[in-house]
Amino acid sequence: MSRRPIAAGNWKMHLTSAAARALARGLRQGLPPDGPEVVVFPSFPLLPAVADELAGSPVGWGGQDLSRELWGARTGEVSPLQLTDAGCRWVLVGHSERRHGHGEDDALVAGKLAAALGAGLAPILCLGETRQERRAGRTWEVLGGQLDAAVEAAAGQQLTVAYEPVWAIGTGDTATPEQAQEAHAFLRRRLEERAGRAAAAASRILYGGSVKPDNAAELFARQDLDGFLVGGASLDAVSFLAIIAACGGRAAESGGSP
Ligand code: PEP
Repeated sequence: MSRRPIAAGNWKMHLTSAAARALARGLRQGLPPDGPEVVVFPSFPLLPAVADELAGSPVGWGGQDLSRELWGARTGEVSPLQLTDAGCRWVLVGHSERRHGHGEDDALVAGKLAAALGAGLAPILCLGETRQERRAGRTWEVLGGQLDAAVEAAAGQQLTVAYEPVWAIGTGDTATPEQAQEAHAFLRRRLEERAGRAAAAASRILYGGSVKPDNAAELFARQDLDGFLVGGASLDAVSFLAIIAACGGRAAESGGSP
């Protein structure tokens, strides 16, 4: 079995619709043949413009967050059904800026994950330890807890996971390839224990945290890395296309021990 790599761009709260259109067009025009699956995550108001640019292309798009409820009096939230209505196939769940900036705990993330799967969206579950947790030797406890809550909520459905150490996001302080591989191998073993060997072998585990064109290939060479979730460097078509190109040339083999 092989896993098709993914290069995902998290555009966060950046861009206007005109700039998002231009970026989407640049990606569409520059995609390499036989590259990874490519997905972008614009902020909600930009989704129609991005969908219009990317319709009919192999590039997918998704929401950066969602509500765990389908409808109702939830000011400021976006329903999973509104995302599918906007043509989204994907959604980010549990990004560290939601967990740490907006107090989302594992229970809320699990609820959002279940809502996404229930609506037919493909969630990318983001998880990762803070610098303090790593220094305190709690990395595996934190990652294990975040993953277990999500696996239970997924109830046997396939998950894509993004390992994003909080200390590496937007800091320029990228995890070393060894640190990333160690965490990815841990997550794949944990998936095997909790969801079974087939699910663990099939699940794509992305790395996120200050990925740039000059460190992508070295990271991607590690066996349990199935691609990237990219923030800053996905805002420029040339740099994101270089990262996309670094994810070409292989479909990661199944299995997953370091
Ligand atoms: C992210 O926001 O998911 C991220 C990884 O950001 P950056 O690449 O800028 O560190």
